[in-house]
Amino acid sequence: MSDSLDNPRNSELINCIADEKSDCIECELNGKLLCIIDKKFANRFLIGNITYRILALTIFVMSGLLIGHWWMLISYAIILPLTFLVIEPRLLCSYCPFYEKEGKCLKCWALRGMPKLWKYRPGPATKIEKNVMLIFGTFIDVFPFVGSIWGIIHFALNTTNNLFAGISLIVITILFLIVATYFSKILLGNACKKCANFSCSMNKVPYEIVKIFLEKNPKMKEAWIKAGWKDERANSK
Ligand code: SF4
Ligand code: SF4
Repeated sequence: MSDSLDNPRNSELINCIADEKSDCIECELNGKLLCIIDKKFANRFLIGNITYRILALTIFVMSGLLIGHWWMLISYAIILPLTFLVIEPRLLCSYCPFYEKEGKCLKCWALRGMPKLWKYRPGPATKIEKNVMLIFGTFIDVFPFVGSIWGIIHFALNTTNNLFAGISLIVITILFLIVATYFSKILLGNACKKCANFSCSMNKVPYEIVKIFLEKNPKMKEAWIKAGWKDERANSK
């Protein structure tokens, strides 16, 4: 049993998101989970994500010009691809039902096209994995604010310093705030309440929906129960 859970490709383990034969039209979870890719939403997410990262990098360039150091830009430029290409796929995505889909690249609504370097894991992520993911996620999402505030303070203390970089930083920061608000509305206001990766620390899918999904996917349920997830209905019997 544990062998089939550890090596899902060797067994019949294919969850209903990865299974092309799933009858999604008749499914009671249709519309309640982000388990079927809506191309419009996926494209909006992709454009939002790329814009956020480009603005973040530009913030570090402008604050670097103002402050005169480049460690923030360099560390962000290294950690950003490392997070999206290696860390997030391992600590978050490898636990997501989308990760079990056939192919060498991710086919989901968020990190579409990322290479699948890891094996799919049907159970939930561990606490350590969740915490490490939170640290990296916070860094790539929040650190640009540090670069922005630091650069603007520097500019305010000496406005004759570099007028172009200072004004550019203020404009880019305003754009960044608009994109960040839009992005957090899409994510926190919608996607996290419907995301099929129940392992994520940000996931807000109601327990009842998680339970129905796991009922549909017995191998996943088995792995979740083995990892300590509690089926309240089974416990109350
Ligand atoms: S839960 Fe599975 S079967 Fe139901 S709509 Fe989503 S992917 Fe299809
Ligand atoms: S939906 Fe999210 S967690 Fe799942 S594979 Fe895509 S990016 Fe990773």
